[in-house]
Amino acid sequence: MVSDDMPTDGGRMPWFRRADPAPAGPVAVLGGGIGGTAVADALRRAGREAVILEAGPALARDGSGNPSALMKPRLTPDGHPYGRFHAQAWLHALHRYDALPAAVWREGRGVLAAARDAAEVAEQEHLVAALRWPAEEVRRVDAVEALALSGCPTPLGGLWFGRAGCLHPQLLCPALAAGCEVRTGVRVAAFARAGDGWVLRDDGGAPILEAAAVVLAAGAALPELWPAADWPLGKSRGQITFLPASEAGPRRAVSFGGYLTAPFTDEDGRPIHALGATYDRWRHRPDDWRPVRPEDHARNLALLAEHLPDAAARLGAEPIGGRAGLRCTIPDHMPLAGPVHDAAAFRTAFADLHHGRRPQAYPPAPYVPGLFVLGALGSRGFQTAPLAAEVVAAEITGAPCPVDADIAAALHPARFEVRHLKHPPQRRAVEEKKKQKR
Ligand SMILES: Cc1cc2nc3c(=O)[nH]c(=O)nc-3n(C[C@H](O)[C@H](O)[C@H](O)COP(=O)(O)OP(=O)(O)OC[C@H]3O[C@@H](n4cnc5c(N)ncnc54)[C@H](O)[C@@H]3O)c2cc1C
Repeated sequence: MVSDDMPTDGGRMPWFRRADPAPAGPVAVLGGGIGGTAVADALRRAGREAVILEAGPALARDGSGNPSALMKPRLTPDGHPYGRFHAQAWLHALHRYDALPAAVWREGRGVLAAARDAAEVAEQEHLVAALRWPAEEVRRVDAVEALALSGCPTPLGGLWFGRAGCLHPQLLCPALAAGCEVRTGVRVAAFARAGDGWVLRDDGGAPILEAAAVVLAAGAALPELWPAADWPLGKSRGQITFLPASEAGPRRAVSFGGYLTAPFTDEDGRPIHALGATYDRWRHRPDDWRPVRPEDHARNLALLAEHLPDAAARLGAEPIGGRAGLRCTIPDHMPLAGPVHDAAAFRTAFADLHHGRRPQAYPPAPYVPGLFVLGALGSRGFQTAPLAAEVVAAEITGAPCPVDADIAAALHPARFEVRHLKHPPQRRAVEEKKKQKR
């Protein structure tokens, strides 16, 4: 039975409506990290031409530029959109990465999530019981089995994710972009509507590309690229520490609040582990985030020693290098994936959303035609980007959305605007003031 109050657009409310599919022609993807290459991959498989425009000298050099990225699921025992999205994203990413050349994975599948105290052991047991996933995917292991599987001594064992592992981003991103045009060393300085598409320009104002649609996948540069949306984005600096690999080190990656990767050979031919990562808010800090800091190596080593003292003692090595990067973060830890709303028109259209009128009483959400975003991938971009990219590609092509309507709403780029507009005017005024201070 269809009631008058039911949303009709694929189960969506008018403020989260599906976008109008983009006209024929190339889709410009701004950014060549895991976000941009995953979007290009999804578009290519949907039969659309994607052109990646990357400011840096190669793909996977900025936020996605670590030499080994942990690929481990974020699972929760409840059925909320956050947990369901992360579980679905995990399975989708595995499926996609396993269809690529095997070299996109670093050697040695299987990741141990070490339990740090008795409460975490209980949480892990509860999670396994609630999920009822096959043991090959995830199971609880005691300290003896954890050591046998990973080579890492842990006081309390942990969760063993048999299909998890570490990725090689500098091979993964080009593999995802295969079959798409990639232009590196191209910084998009401006883009504007032209006819029913877009023209993108470089720093000197020269046209780079005419495109039917644009996808913003610029990582930590997203807030500057489209400030009109006023997304509550943050930047967080992270540093990883390189340690020489040794016979006594773990054979598989281990997470413990931080993470220690399985040994791999770096660009200089050295067998190393990557230990990470620090997490420091950076949005308003004036100092340069790029230089590697000895005190941050010390913090990474201290965290390892705190939670896995035997493993730290076995490694016992001095750092031989490291790398820093910026994450693009967002308060609810869900990616932004979908059409970009026209913020001013959106606020007018839904100004009285707090009155809770029938959804049908509202107009369809005003979107910026042909503009889409995949961003705010936080600390888990390698797990979430492929499914979030499918959501974006489906909006561009008009294909059925690959996630449930409540998950699409939880990913929707206008969700913070909607939450704000649902609050009464007095509370909105307080929120506006807080925003000024952000
Ligand atoms: C220290 C650290 C450790 C991490 N470890 C892990 C991990 O183990 N596992 C995991 O899943 N995630 C990890 N993350 C998070 C993960 O790296 C990010 O979620 C992911 O890389 C974000 O990808 P992205 O494509 O959005 O951004 P990026 O990889 O930063 O890509 C954005 C690209 O856009 C380009 N760009 C920006 N502006 C423009 C412009 N105007 N024109 C053209 N190009 C432009 C940039 O040059 C950049 O290459 C880690 C992050 C850090 C910092």
